[in-house]
Amino acid sequence: MTEVMEPIKSIETDIKSIKRIFDLQIRNQYEVGKSTSGERRAKIDKFHKTFIKYRIEIKEALYRDFKKHPAEVDMTEIYPVTSEIKHAKSQISNWMRDRSIHTPIALIGSSSYIKYEPKGVVLIISPWNFPINLTFCPLISAIAAGNNVIIKPSELTPHASAIMRKIVEEVFEESEVAVIEGGVEVSTELLRLPFNHIFFTGSPSVGKIVMEAAAKNLTSVTLELGGKSPTIVDETANIEIAAKRIAQGKFANNGQICIAPDYVYVHESKKELFLSALNTFIGQFYGDDPSKESSYNRIVNKRHLLRLQGYISDAVSKGAKIITGVKADKEENYIAPTIITGADKSSDLMNNEIFGPILPVFAYNQLDEVVNEIRSGEKPLAMYIFSSNSKNIDYILNNTRAGGGCINHCAVHYYNTNLPFGGSNNSGIGKSHGIEGFKTFSNERGILKQNIPNALDLLVPPFNNFKQRLIDFTIKYL
Ligand code: NAD
Repeated sequence: MTEVMEPIKSIETDIKSIKRIFDLQIRNQYEVGKSTSGERRAKIDKFHKTFIKYRIEIKEALYRDFKKHPAEVDMTEIYPVTSEIKHAKSQISNWMRDRSIHTPIALIGSSSYIKYEPKGVVLIISPWNFPINLTFCPLISAIAAGNNVIIKPSELTPHASAIMRKIVEEVFEESEVAVIEGGVEVSTELLRLPFNHIFFTGSPSVGKIVMEAAAKNLTSVTLELGGKSPTIVDETANIEIAAKRIAQGKFANNGQICIAPDYVYVHESKKELFLSALNTFIGQFYGDDPSKESSYNRIVNKRHLLRLQGYISDAVSKGAKIITGVKADKEENYIAPTIITGADKSSDLMNNEIFGPILPVFAYNQLDEVVNEIRSGEKPLAMYIFSSNSKNIDYILNNTRAGGGCINHCAVHYYNTNLPFGGSNNSGIGKSHGIEGFKTFSNERGILKQNIPNALDLLVPPFNNFKQRLIDFTIKYL
C-alpha cells in the first residue's frame, strides 16, 4: 500500500520546485510536441499498463480516502480512464491528421488546412470526488495532443494523489508530466505561471479564481464546474425504472458527483408511487442500515458532513419533511440516504449544489412551471428527463439549457467518450472527452497554402478602375 508522502516542507520549497519543473517543461515542449502519433500512442500504452498494474493500490487508496467500495472504484475511476485510453489509442492518428478545409472561389489557386498543434505546457487542477478519473482522463487528452503537463490533484484525497504521483513518475520524466501535490497555496503559486492552457475541474467559485488568474497571462481555460442538476419525472415515465436509476445516480459516491441528480420534480399523480419506489431501491441497494453496507461510501470529511447536516436542519426549520434518512454518525462522516419533500426554495438545500446523499423531491402539475423554475436558476451541468412522451421531452429540451444530460437515465452520458462533456456558463466553459478533449489541448492552426498565382496578386496598389471593377465583381459574385 502506498503511504501518503510527506507534504512538501514549506511554500518557499514548493515555489522553487514548481518554477524548476515549469521551466524544464517550457524548454522541453517542442521536443514533446513534435512526437508522431505512434510515439504518443506508445506513451499512452505505457501509461495504460502502469495504471492497470496499480489497480489494487488505487482501490486501497480510495478506500482510505473515503471508504469508496472497490467495485465502485472500478466503475467510476478505473473504467472511465481505460475507456478514454482505448478511444485515444484508436483515434489518435485521425485526430492528429491535418484536416483539409474548403477554399472559397475568390482564393482560387490556394488550398487550406488545419494543423493540430499542442497548446504547450498545460496545468490540470483536479477535485477530490473522482480524483483518479478527473485527473487522468484530461491527462490522456493532453498527451494525445502532444502537451507537457503539470498536475495539481486535490489535497482532500491524499492517498489518491500519492498513487497518481507514483504512476506518473514511473511513466514520465518530470520534464514531460509532473504531479505537484498541495492545497490552495500551491494551486495559487501554479496559477501565477504563464501556462498555455489550464484545465480546471472543481466548484464554480474556485473556477472564477482560476479564470481571473488565467486572464493575467491570457491563458486559455477549460472549466469543468458543478451546480444543481435537475431531474424531471413526468406522468408517462416508467416510475420503477426512474426511481431505480435516480437512486443509483444519487447515492453512488455518496452523492458526491458533479452530475448527480440534485433534486427531482415528479408529476403530482406519481409522487407517492415514486417516493415508495425510491425507498424500496434504497433498501435493496444498501439494506436496512446503510452504515453497515460496504457499498455505501462516506462523506469526504467533517467539514462537508457538517455542511450537509446544516442543509437538512435549515430545510426542516423552513417546513421540509424528511421521508427517509436522518441517521448520521459524525465520527464516521456518515449520513444515511435522505429523501426530503417540501423544501422551501429559499433554503440552503435549494440554493447550493448538494453534493451529498440528500434528495429533495417536489411534485408538479404543469411542465411549464418546472421549466420556468429551472430557467430562473444557473445553467445546470446536467439535466435528466424520465418520460415516454416525445412531445414532453422535446418541450423540456427546447425550453431549457444545460451542459448535457440523459433521457431515461442519470449520469451515464459521462461514459460515452464520443459525447462532448462539460457545462455551460456557471457549470463550465469548454468540453472534454475523446476528440473534444484532444481539441481542448490543441491549437487549431489554420494554414492557407498558395499553389499558383491568384487574383489577389493583381490587386496591389496603385488601384485603378480596372482593379476596382475586379473588387466589385468579387464582392457581388464570389
Ligand atoms: P474545489 O473547487 O474546492 O477544488 C478543486 C481544486 O481546486 C482542488 O485541487 C483544490 O486544491 C483547488 N483549489 C481550491 N481552492 C482554491 C483556490 N482558492 N485557489 C486555487 N485553487 C484552489 O472543488 P472540490 O470540492 O474538490 O470538488 C467539488 C466541486 O467540483 C463541485 O462543485 C463539483 O460539482 C465540481 N466537479 C465538477 C466536475 C465536472 O466534470 N464538471 C467533476 C467533479 C467535480
